[in-house]
Amino acid sequence: MGTHDGRMYVVTGAASGIGAATTSALAAAGARVIAADRSWTAAPPRRATTVEQVDLDVAEPAAWIALAERLGPGSGGPLIDGLVNAAGITRRARLADATAEDFAASFAVNATGPALGIQALAPLMGDGASIVNVGSAAGAMAHYGIAYGASKWALRGVTKTAAMELGPRGIRVNLVSPGFIETPMTASAPAAFREVNLASTPLGRTGTPAEVAAVIACLLSPDAAFVTGTEVAVDGGLTGHNGGLPIARAMGSGHPHE
Ligand code: NAD
Repeated sequence: MGTHDGRMYVVTGAASGIGAATTSALAAAGARVIAADRSWTAAPPRRATTVEQVDLDVAEPAAWIALAERLGPGSGGPLIDGLVNAAGITRRARLADATAEDFAASFAVNATGPALGIQALAPLMGDGASIVNVGSAAGAMAHYGIAYGASKWALRGVTKTAAMELGPRGIRVNLVSPGFIETPMTASAPAAFREVNLASTPLGRTGTPAEVAAVIACLLSPDAAFVTGTEVAVDGGLTGHNGGLPIARAMGSGHPHE
């Protein structure tokens, strides 16, 4: 028996990286998954018969409404047990160069999109359902790409407000904030970004999409039944040291005779 047997989830950004790994993890644990993305061109073929691919642009309110109508009570299908908002885009322009379009696009996909998804699909959820938004370490610290970082800070607000609003209905909402994870998004980052992330991460390595998916799957499951409105960093300790790591390194090993 899988942990998610008989449950049904919607996962966005499911064609790639963390969303794809989450889809696989949930399907392997017995769930049915509506795998949503705006671009399936690079997607690997899916073998699980419990995964249905749909085209959805998370920034389009009408697309969410259409999905809700398709999945709603009128469809005769089961209520859905949760939503994973993993779709995201990055914008790397610095303060001096970032455009209004950088902000508009980042916020539309990374913050407004998850809010629209929650708004459309929460009515199809019942007591015990769970929503996970995929934030970022960039939403917990100053981030060089100002529009992306600000949109991930905004997503924290969306998460906390949704948890407050949906709590009385028994629906939980949490944020998972990855550090440097090996996906197509980070593959396009400058080499220096990778190097400094590695140097700033106590575990001394990058993470895998499956490692993020495992935490998302746990938050979706009844194992996390009393967890809502909170944030879980899946970042190898990147944000946990709050700047202490370079100071500790500068102090040496800590042994008085060294
Ligand atoms: P990715 O680029 O591999 O996958 C993102 C997916 O989102 C793609 O399949 C893309 O088509 C889809 N997408 C983009 N805009 C969309 C839209 N408007 N509607 C529907 N789908 C859309 O990236 P990833 O690294 O897997 O990122 C997943 C999430 O994790 C993002 O929210 C990202 O910000 C976040 N994140 C990633 C990292 C990392 O190191 N990879 C770190 C922190 C946070």
